Amino acid sequence: MTANNEPPKTYEQVISTVSGHALSTLSPDNLPSLASIHSVTVMVVNLYFTDPNLLPDRGFGYLIPRSISFDQNPECALGVVFDSDATIGQDSVSGTKLTVMFGGHWWDGFDSYPDEEEGAAMAKAVLRRHLNVDVEPTAVNVGLQRECIPQYTVGHEARMKSAHNELMSTFNGKLKVAGNSYTGVGLNDCVRAARDIAMGMIDGRAKTGVEEFVYPRGWVETKIPSRAEIEQELERRYGGKPPRN
Ligand SMILES: Cc1cc2nc3c(=O)[nH]c(=O)nc-3n(C[C@H](O)[C@H](O)[C@H](O)COP(=O)(O)OP(=O)(O)OC[C@H]3O[C@@H](n4cnc5c(N)ncnc54)[C@H](O)[C@@H]3O)c2cc1C
Repeated sequence: MTANNEPPKTYEQVISTVSGHALSTLSPDNLPSLASIHSVTVMVVNLYFTDPNLLPDRGFGYLIPRSISFDQNPECALGVVFDSDATIGQDSVSGTKLTVMFGGHWWDGFDSYPDEEEGAAMAKAVLRRHLNVDVEPTAVNVGLQRECIPQYTVGHEARMKSAHNELMSTFNGKLKVAGNSYTGVGLNDCVRAARDIAMGMIDGRAKTGVEEFVYPRGWVETKIPSRAEIEQELERRYGGKPPRN
């Protein structure tokens, strides 16, 4: 492996958390199943308004389903997150923070995308039409995330089985994978994959990070703690008074 033009170093084990497609380009011809994972590009526009009471409703925000036609969604918006509601207590200034997301499946096959100015204008148009927000934001940040969300299309499970076999035959278990290309795209899935691979390396179960597609683990027995055990644990951690936010 090399980084920053340093001489190559040898490692006994590598866990890759770059996308499956990016990994396939680092080992050309060996990982065709990972090369075939399709991902979509998303534009993210963050807006900050000083008025803390700008929105007609409070909550996490909303996603726009595929069933909404282009006529009703000419900006190709995916959804709006109400960040100032979703992350209460994490900001040092009051106000309303929103994130408008564009693209995804709408932009499949595109090779050029809106620029920053167009992205900001699209976000303002969506907020005006959906939420009646017609004031200028104090700050706007536009980012284009290329091929950032893998799409688990029909055949994903078969692709992952092949990926396990390709990783084993080429790297014999020395290269493992985790991240959003394999076992779930949500943050919780990615954290779980990282945890599973770390634990699996201790007990020898983790072979490639996608071995579960070939050898399903089945149901895991979990013991739910009793009320008395929960109270005992709360007492141990917080002296009986769990912190509230
Ligand atoms: C706009 C958007 C909104 C989302 N909203 C939510 C949400 O509300 N809830 C939720 O649970 N999930 C959400 N997700 C999904 C979730 O955030 C991602 O799937 C997850 O963060 C991906 O984590 P990761 O570690 O697999 O990949 P990343 O965080 O993308 O990490 C991959 C890293 O690899 C690096 N890299 C790539 N190629 C190379 C290379 N050749 N060499 C070295 N480094 C390389 C990249 O720079 C990057 O840092 C959202 C995703 C997006 C894009």
